[in-house]
Amino acid sequence: MTRRDFLKLTGMASSGSIAGAGSLSALARMATAFKTTAPLPVFFFGHGSPMNAIELNEFSLTWRTIGANLPVPNAILCISAHWLTTKGTFVTAADHPQTIHDFGGFPPELFQVQYPAPGSRALAGLVVDSIGQTHVHEDMEWGLDHGTWSVLRHVFPQANVPVVQMSIDYSRPAAYHYALARELSALRRKGVLIIASGNMVHNLRMVAWDKPADSAFGFDWAIEANEKMKKHLSSNEYQPLIDWQQQGTAFQLAIPTPDHYYPMLYALALRTDKDTLTYFNDKAVMGSLTMTSFRLDHTL
Ligand code: ZN
Repeated sequence: MTRRDFLKLTGMASSGSIAGAGSLSALARMATAFKTTAPLPVFFFGHGSPMNAIELNEFSLTWRTIGANLPVPNAILCISAHWLTTKGTFVTAADHPQTIHDFGGFPPELFQVQYPAPGSRALAGLVVDSIGQTHVHEDMEWGLDHGTWSVLRHVFPQANVPVVQMSIDYSRPAAYHYALARELSALRRKGVLIIASGNMVHNLRMVAWDKPADSAFGFDWAIEANEKMKKHLSSNEYQPLIDWQQQGTAFQLAIPTPDHYYPMLYALALRTDKDTLTYFNDKAVMGSLTMTSFRLDHTL
């Protein structure tokens, strides 16, 4: 149902009133697009090397176990570190989002990976309607980047759950992203699995290339930053995590640029006092990356 059809049905179109039309549309979409469910978990995935997409290692095997034990959601909304925009926030609206191979220097088999999950215009519309602090633009060009599919091809290998990506407006600060993410919370009750994909500690300039991407090795500052982040997460102290630039040298080294850090804030922002936070894949690799991930599970 389009917004115009809904307004016709409710008589709003002839009243000439457009005030509130957005919220009515949001209600209509909420009511019709997805059935109400118990709140779904929220995930922050440390995705690490793109090779995790095609390798079976302790990280990807954990992703598989997670997927095998999840109820099949109505749709997935992913905030990936690899879709940065500077002129607003965008959401994928294509019916068949392309698999984007947004990296270089990896073996051909990685470029052959396809993750043909359908899109969801209904979810794209719900995201647009859910967010009030900015106008989210629907995008028909972007598809699924490797921040999304390198994880999802293990979590949902059949690629049969619709996936929508939302971009990160890189012109905005951490507090903006945290506030924006909070506006997505109602989607959890609509069977939408919200996942964020990045890395809490991510410094590619300092990677120890001689160390394998799937066995534990972390520089002291990487471990320190990771542990401090976890301490704040476990204590639900979100303000220091928003003020990441004021947290000292280890944070500065861990977050030389915030592209892989911001997704974590999206997941954190969705935490309620009913959620338990559980870590997984909590390891440093290649010196300057951590795979540390967490999930939020609603408990009664
Ligand atoms: Zn990445």
